[in-house]
Amino acid sequence: MMTVDFAKDALKKYFGYDNFRPMQSEIIEAIYAKTDTLVLMPTGGGKSVCYQIPAVTQEGVCLVVSPLISLMKDQVEGLRANGVPAAYLNSSLNSAEQNAVENDLFNGNIKLLYVSPEKLVSQSFLPLLKQAKINLFAIDEAHCISSWGHDFRPEYKKLRFLKEQFSDIPLVALTATADKVTRRDIIQQLGLQNPRVFIASFDRPNISLNVRPGQKRFEQILAFIQQHANQAGIIYCLSRKSTEDLASKLREKRIDAAAYHAGLDPATRSKVQEDFIKDDVQIVCATIAFGMGIDKSNVRWVVHYNLPKNMESYYQEIGRAGRDGARSDALLFYSFRDVMVMREIISNNQSENEAVQLSKLERIQQYADSLICRRKILLNYFGENLDSDCGNCDVCKNPPQHFDGTIIAQKALSAVARAKEKVGIRLLIDILRGSQRKEIIELGYDRIKTYGMGADISAYDWQHLMAQLINLGLLEIAYDQRNVLKLTSLSRAVLFESKKVQLVRMADIKQRQEAEKNKVKKKSVKERVRDELFEILRKLRRDIAQKSGIPPYLVFSDASLEQMAASRPVTEFDFSMISGVGEKKLKQYGQIFMSKIKEFIGDKASAGTTIQGATQLQTLQLYNRGFSPERIAMERGISEQTVYDHLVKMYAKDQKIDIKRFVSSSEIKRIMEVVASLEPPYKLRQIYEALNEEIPYYKIRFGLAYYYKKR
Ligand code: ADP
Ligand code: ZN
Repeated sequence: MMTVDFAKDALKKYFGYDNFRPMQSEIIEAIYAKTDTLVLMPTGGGKSVCYQIPAVTQEGVCLVVSPLISLMKDQVEGLRANGVPAAYLNSSLNSAEQNAVENDLFNGNIKLLYVSPEKLVSQSFLPLLKQAKINLFAIDEAHCISSWGHDFRPEYKKLRFLKEQFSDIPLVALTATADKVTRRDIIQQLGLQNPRVFIASFDRPNISLNVRPGQKRFEQILAFIQQHANQAGIIYCLSRKSTEDLASKLREKRIDAAAYHAGLDPATRSKVQEDFIKDDVQIVCATIAFGMGIDKSNVRWVVHYNLPKNMESYYQEIGRAGRDGARSDALLFYSFRDVMVMREIISNNQSENEAVQLSKLERIQQYADSLICRRKILLNYFGENLDSDCGNCDVCKNPPQHFDGTIIAQKALSAVARAKEKVGIRLLIDILRGSQRKEIIELGYDRIKTYGMGADISAYDWQHLMAQLINLGLLEIAYDQRNVLKLTSLSRAVLFESKKVQLVRMADIKQRQEAEKNKVKKKSVKERVRDELFEILRKLRRDIAQKSGIPPYLVFSDASLEQMAASRPVTEFDFSMISGVGEKKLKQYGQIFMSKIKEFIGDKASAGTTIQGATQLQTLQLYNRGFSPERIAMERGISEQTVYDHLVKMYAKDQKIDIKRFVSSSEIKRIMEVVASLEPPYKLRQIYEALNEEIPYYKIRFGLAYYYKKR
């Protein structure tokens, strides 16, 4: 029987990856053991590898059922680019082409065959199926089988015949969206036998989460695009018209953007989609109609021009960024006005679950207003708990300063009480600010005690403070009573028991945003050098893609290019270490990419620029392949001490280094104790001696790096 070691070799050989992602190897093991499996993994989580590895390592062919014709082509092209013989069968092929593929299946010339459900369940296909040597059935987008889900496909129901007719061939069902009901439905309807269910984390740590106030959106977007020069991105807009307006406004600024929505004619739509996939258009301004059926792995950012209607949509849409695992950004613009517009849309739809939709809207509003780690809130919504703050959202990167806002809260709450809970946010702010508006005088609100008591705070700042009070649960909006403000059970404690309220000043929120902006602007020289080479490689990738008629990201992912740009491999050995470089791509593209890299290094060297960091990365790549420090030292012709030096540095830079491999927990504990008893700056020698010279230097350095991180 196949083993995981074997699978790991194939992973490098065909896909160029050193390690499995969480759960991939367990799933593959289960498939090797002929167990039926249900796999829940987020988009970009790496579902395909779970059946592709069993397919290429075992005798026979794997049959993949996929509902989206456009994705089949993409997957097959990707496999072929990696040297895996694969094909697809669907209505887009003429009968001669279909015959050719069927012959290949019959003769065992392919390792993977993608079929549409219609084709698979057709009567004429069954005899062929019986004759072919099939090692696995993979049902992609398995939630399509459930009429509970949003993508129900009637043909999926017929897939039940697979387990009925081929009970000894294992089946893996895969999906990125399945609640409990749908999960049960998939298992039942496919007739899975004692299935194992794998549910991966839905966290997408490489996507940084950012929310900004929705003022001056266009200017903010221009700045954002400037910071993401040449990077593919999607801007989601609320209406068809706004996608067109925004795209043309961007084009006026000489930014490469196109609009996409369901109202365009099919030819235009598929052209936009195709151009985007091929990196021929950088930005698509789209309604939510855009994104399904696109596997483009190098979407680097997603902007939400407006608040999405719920967390599910938001998560799905930002998930289109960064499938390759490289750094990507999600940016959401948020204003209270947007909430009001969404509420109106929901009410006008007059659907029966209006209440549910409204409360879902409220959840995403809370997310946008949040002053704690956003990823915590996002994952929490999907029933996952993050132990610590993520460090990759705007709140984590720039935590807000709280101040004692008890008096401000008391003023606002008492105004609500004195206005008999009959006013909405705007009116309340006017009362607090002592406005002379006609309505206020007429209704006698100028006579209540809190009138004008918040005049020292601007209306704009009040809006933000009110949003915080609502998020803290101190006030509620009665959506069913023209959005008037109501007190809550928590309000009482603030009003009568002087419970303290922590708030964040608008000025601080603004300052945080300025700081964020400046951070992006100030790029180090080193990074700029990297960008230069990255751009050179990116152009090369595009030229190659154009010539061979496949999308650029199937030549190499952005993640691979980033690694090449950072570690600048110029030998075959070093090039093969890049993640995403398997045997076929090494042979096919190695020389041409390396010659560009050599040219670049030559130019830089003659210009007198030195390049740092490359040697550490090479060490890291070998470490990732599971090499020991001795072996790394040998391969690279450097001392073991230097290897440790690199590993400690990479660990300090937050690369995934398992330091427990080098220092035990008890050693770390001892080092920490000694360090805590000393005054900085710490001297290694001093620590070494304080530990009775019992713990070697390299361990102390790991321990120290650990200490700094924990602090
Ligand atoms: P999904 O189908 O779950 O959306 P994919 O199977 O398309 O995800 O994988 C997303 C991306 O991650 C692809 O570019 C894929 O090549 C890459 N990937 C998958 N497994 C690994 C791995 N073990 N190491 C590195 N990259 C991986
Ligand atoms: Zn965070």
